[in-house]
Amino acid sequence: MCIALRFQWEGECSVYCFDCVQEGRLEPAVAVCVDCGAAACGDHVKRVAASLQRVVGMGGSSSYDTRRLQCGACWAARHGVAAA
Ligand SMILES: [Zn+2]
Ligand SMILES: [Zn+2]
Repeated sequence: MCIALRFQWEGECSVYCFDCVQEGRLEPAVAVCVDCGAAACGDHVKRVAASLQRVVGMGGSSSYDTRRLQCGACWAARHGVAAA
């Protein structure tokens, strides 16, 4: 099995969506999955709500809403549904 990601430093696009490449398409990636490291395009990336704790002052902390970006396969695995 070959590496599906293609790097073209002088081309228009440097990284392509892993899922799209497997379907025979070249779609520019917009994000990288936090779990498996695959690049994903706007159609395949899934946004998962997350929160970040930041220490404030002496012993205090506050939490901020943020996000985690996952590919379709990891998102499906985490949510117990079949990958599209
Ligand atoms: Zn894609
Ligand atoms: Zn993934």
